[in-house]
Parts: sequence; structure tokens; C-alpha cells
Amino acid sequence: MSQDRLIKLGCKDCKRINYWSQKNRRKVERKIELSKFCKWCGKQTVHKEVKK
Ligand SMILES: [Zn+2]
Repeated sequence: MSQDRLIKLGCKDCKRINYWSQKNRRKVERKIELSKFCKWCGKQTVHKEVKK
């Protein structure tokens, strides 16, 4: 069975969910943090994994 799991990436500034990603639990132990463009903030911000 696949260990991949769908996760949400939320903007650190406005907390909105802008991206979806997949995480492989066996390879990625740390929380994902990516610098991505937030259309709500109008700039590049840090997007962190969000727990539902
Ligand atoms: Zn934002």
C-alpha cells in the first residue's frame, strides 16, 4: 500500500490553503515548508503543512 498522503499547504501570513501536495511518510519526516506565491498576499510567502 502507498504511504503517500495528501497534505494541505497553507500560507504562513494569511493562513489560506493555496496548494496541495503529497507526502511520503517514509521519506519525509519533517513538516514541509515551501516558498510559494500566495495570490491573496500578492507575494512569495512560506507555505507550511497544515493539519486539518
Ligand atoms: Zn497569503
